[in-house]
Amino acid sequence: MKAAVVKEFKKDLSIEEVVIPEVKEHDVLVKIKACGVCHTDLHAAHGDWPVKPTLPFIPGHEGVGEIVAIGSNISHLKVGDRVGIPWLYTACGHCEYCLTGRETLCHHQKNAGYSVDGSYAEYCLADGRYVVKIPEALGYVEAAPIFCAGVTTYKALKVGEAKAGDWVAIYGIGGLGHLAVQYAKAMGFKVVAVDTFDEKLELATSLSADLTINPKVEDSADFIQREFGGVQASICTAVSKPAFSEAYRAVKRGGKCVAVGLPPEKMEVPIFDTVLNGVSIVGSIVGTRKDLQECLEFAADGKVKTIIETVKMDDINRVFEDLEQGKINGRIVIEF
Ligand code: NAD
Ligand code: ZN
Ligand code: ZN
Repeated sequence: MKAAVVKEFKKDLSIEEVVIPEVKEHDVLVKIKACGVCHTDLHAAHGDWPVKPTLPFIPGHEGVGEIVAIGSNISHLKVGDRVGIPWLYTACGHCEYCLTGRETLCHHQKNAGYSVDGSYAEYCLADGRYVVKIPEALGYVEAAPIFCAGVTTYKALKVGEAKAGDWVAIYGIGGLGHLAVQYAKAMGFKVVAVDTFDEKLELATSLSADLTINPKVEDSADFIQREFGGVQASICTAVSKPAFSEAYRAVKRGGKCVAVGLPPEKMEVPIFDTVLNGVSIVGSIVGTRKDLQECLEFAADGKVKTIIETVKMDDINRVFEDLEQGKINGRIVIEF
């Protein structure tokens, strides 16, 4: 099969022929129809984070397609089913976290396109217990970005604990952020969108954001505090340390700063303000299989629609360059 392989960090991916993986008892083999390109794939290919993937590897954790082979221990799926293979490739199923609906915190998890090969390939192996079915109303290309960008932002908004009518701020209107704006509106929140590119703010406005701010023009936190006394939750998807600091300062007393983006730097936090304002800072990592089912329904109902440009696998190195420079509006999806 044809696949895009990372052989060295910070070098171009190599498009090559790779052996189709063998199906074991809990696996399904998925013929990939589409896979979104997440900024996490770029971090993985660059070796940005403390725990690095083992080279060589195939990135991709927004892969969707059709099951073509099935392991002997998987009985709830059949050949021909349409499924997606999320970042949470597998987990142990019996630790404290798995047992309490927090499987994304499992210490024994594996991650698609990071610790196991992902979906920048014509076929991808998956743990049949962790794939999620795609609703009939959703095509493959439109379903793909929901498997990471969608579920991650939907879950982060739940973690933010805003109620209908509350203000939330979305920092970074990229692949994740432009879906966050739509989930937030669908959940009944008022949305202020923050990005350093005016085109992204125009996109946010077209997706019904109530306000937009470019932090290059004005400090977003000062603006938000002055205009409406802060947000209940700020969801920071930006790959930028200053954005995290602004997202923190934009939160009102008792509110939550939800960290989603993964720049490799540290976040500085003033202890005094955190204590007196009763502000929480909380990390949010993708979402569970249940979160995925829920947020796929929003997309199937037409409440959330990813802005998509499709490309071919051979275009991946150009796409990574554009992603690094912030040039992509919405999500790029590799179509097979
Ligand atoms: P993206 O490149 O599509 O979007 C990032 C956006 O941030 C861009 O629109 C960019 O213009 C904007 N930005 C940059 N600097 C900014 C600033 N100072 N203020 C406001 N906006 C700014 O990337 P993506 O695919 O949306 O991923 C975003 C981040 O989220 C990555 O670090 C990725 O690894 C991470 N991520 C985390 C999870 C999770 O579960 N926590 C899941 C998926 C992705
Ligand atoms: Zn992702
Ligand atoms: Zn576990």
